[in-house]
Amino acid sequence: MIDFQSILNAIAKTAANADDRGLIAGYIPELATIDTYKFGIHLIDIEQRNFSAGDSDERFSIQSISKVLSLSMVLGLIGESLWERVNVEPSGDPFNHLSLLEMENGVPRNPLINPGAIVVADILVSLLDNPKEDFLAFVRKLANDRTINFDKKVAASEKVTGFRNYAAANLLKSYGNLVNDVDTVLDFYFHQCSLSMNCNQLANTFFMFINQGKCRKNNIFLTTGQVKRINALMLTCGFYDEAGEFAFEVGLPGKSGVGGGIVALLPNRFCVATWSPGLNDKGNSKLGMLALEKLTTETELSIF
Ligand code: GLN
Repeated sequence: MIDFQSILNAIAKTAANADDRGLIAGYIPELATIDTYKFGIHLIDIEQRNFSAGDSDERFSIQSISKVLSLSMVLGLIGESLWERVNVEPSGDPFNHLSLLEMENGVPRNPLINPGAIVVADILVSLLDNPKEDFLAFVRKLANDRTINFDKKVAASEKVTGFRNYAAANLLKSYGNLVNDVDTVLDFYFHQCSLSMNCNQLANTFFMFINQGKCRKNNIFLTTGQVKRINALMLTCGFYDEAGEFAFEVGLPGKSGVGGGIVALLPNRFCVATWSPGLNDKGNSKLGMLALEKLTTETELSIF
């Protein structure tokens, strides 16, 4: 059996000694003060054995990782009709770019770039009685953890500086691909991005993606087919214009966030979450990517 714990210990040690740690996402002021020396990693395997190292119990802003959770909730509620409003192709562009959206008449390339996630948020706002509360309840159920919450300060901070997201939402609205008003949808979107979780909680929440749509308590959240699709989207779109590099270096479906978190997984084997707040120039955690490359190289476990 693979000694995951020793491998995680070695990864955390290498991360602690790294000089070049990347840069914090300063465009969300509330995130700008976080210590770049933080590093955490947590792995859960299909038998539900848990392994962790470093700052794996410290909560951080999961940001774009939340897009996978909102997508899961929407797919569970409306199924395939989602694809009438969002495409499933990689964009090759940064997460916040708008040029393709205009060229393609307001249909976002995929649900993991900002415009796509804003359409998903719009659908949830239409479908749910109390969108923020209901989404939070969904995540807590998935995680089997009632302590998970939004970080209202982070949500408020992004609201003040989220000019590009306002531009994206307005563009979507002009093409008729946003039903609710811009402020309501973005208030929901900023809150979903502000979810505060640690590596342990993230890896456990994403367990259903290695377990054919069933959470750790064996409750069914998604069909096997829906899990296949979401995992495919994480592989091809989860790291924006660095999705190719992540597949090349790490070889797993995954999703990053500008809070410095990454979740990656090997279906039927394990799910792993890392956190290191410094980002590379594509907005993905610098040490998180290196850590996951080391993990899949040392264990020889990847989808390839
Ligand atoms: N809330 C962030 C934004 O919309 C999420 C971006 C990310 O994590 N890549 O800009």
